[in-house]
Amino acid sequence: MKKLIAGNWKMNGLAAAAAEIEALGAKLTEADRAKADVLVCPPATLVSVLEPKARAAGIALGGQDCHEKECGAHTGCISAEMLADAGATYVIVGHSERRADFGETDAAVKAKAEAAQRAGLMPIVCVGETRDEREAGRAEAVVRGQLEGSLPEGEFVVAYEPVWAIGTGLVPEEADIAAMHRLMREVAGPGVRLLYGGSVKPANAKAILGLDDVDGALVGGASLKAEDFYGIISAA
Ligand code: PEP
Repeated sequence: MKKLIAGNWKMNGLAAAAAEIEALGAKLTEADRAKADVLVCPPATLVSVLEPKARAAGIALGGQDCHEKECGAHTGCISAEMLADAGATYVIVGHSERRADFGETDAAVKAKAEAAQRAGLMPIVCVGETRDEREAGRAEAVVRGQLEGSLPEGEFVVAYEPVWAIGTGLVPEEADIAAMHRLMREVAGPGVRLLYGGSVKPANAKAILGLDDVDGALVGGASLKAEDFYGIISAA
């Protein structure tokens, strides 16, 4: 399966960040593009700002979250239709920071994923256990439960992001990543792209992306600078 290398800029980036998209586009070769689809999920305020440069560079854009409704009295929220209108083709749903900071349940994540599909966006559904859950030997049961509760019918991407590996520099053992991706393949089925996320860097990307059933990466910190992000893309 062609890899998907996705960057999650989180709450980082002003209009000047268009220079990073341009710089990344300048680095991408035809061989890179043949091996990997490249996606950047900037803050929603930047989707339409970055769209012309991203389109010229062959880089897809995505949102980091969406509301389940198309429109209405939901102050401060952004619908999947609005993201699509701004030029996005993907949206991340159920990131652990959303689950933790905003109490998003599996049912809410599933509704957001379905909203993404309704708007013609590809949802990237995030799952992953906390450190306590892993230490208690419950990681696979937790992730299985999240998958069963969050995944929509139809087309979607899944990202396995252990909460304790996000932004910490910690990465699970390769065998643990592989075991979780086997489980995700079993639940999600063939043909679904399964991403790993959590402290992916140029130095560890090749080993992680070489594991069975790892079809790409969801990258936070290392996606902010074109040089680092390109290092991960080229490892694919
Ligand atoms: C993320 O937030 O999705 C993520 C994987 O972050 P980082 O790469 O910084 O760990």
